[in-house]
Amino acid sequence: MTLRNKITLAIGFLVMILPLIIALPADAQDPPPTPEDYVAHVGGEGQIVPSGQFKLDGRTQRCGQRPTVIDNNLDDYGAAYPGFLIMNPKLLDRVSTPVKQWIFAHECGHQFRGPDEETADCFAVQRGRREGWLTPDGLEEVCTFISPAKADSMHFSGSYRCEYMRKCYADPTVK
Ligand SMILES: [Zn+2]
Repeated sequence: MTLRNKITLAIGFLVMILPLIIALPADAQDPPPTPEDYVAHVGGEGQIVPSGQFKLDGRTQRCGQRPTVIDNNLDDYGAAYPGFLIMNPKLLDRVSTPVKQWIFAHECGHQFRGPDEETADCFAVQRGRREGWLTPDGLEEVCTFISPAKADSMHFSGSYRCEYMRKCYADPTVK
């Protein structure tokens, strides 16, 4: 094989595999962070709480086997990464127990049901009903909590989410 043939072959090979490299989904190139990665990223101020040990107002919160990372500097009450939850106790301290538990359950919903916000809301209220920590009054507290929320690219407006959650709460079939 001449050098020229070798170069042509090499270019041909690159042209063939390049679309395969580009087509790889982002998460295959970039694995989601571990809780340790997250804590390192936030400057070591986060704290990893093993599954079954995280409590809100003295009540143990569970999300399968997933750990919870405590981060008082998170820009929201809670968040979810694939494999772990993040909770911000500094903000959570401002809301009632059922609202706190609803936030945890919503983030847990993302772990089991994916990124869809309505599905996570529905998961949270149905779990609360089933486990007995979310009464109809508690659901109204959740509604008051999210009602000022304006719609954005990820979330419907608070009033729309509430309407959907009330339906889910009343629906005996688990979503
Ligand atoms: Zn969410």
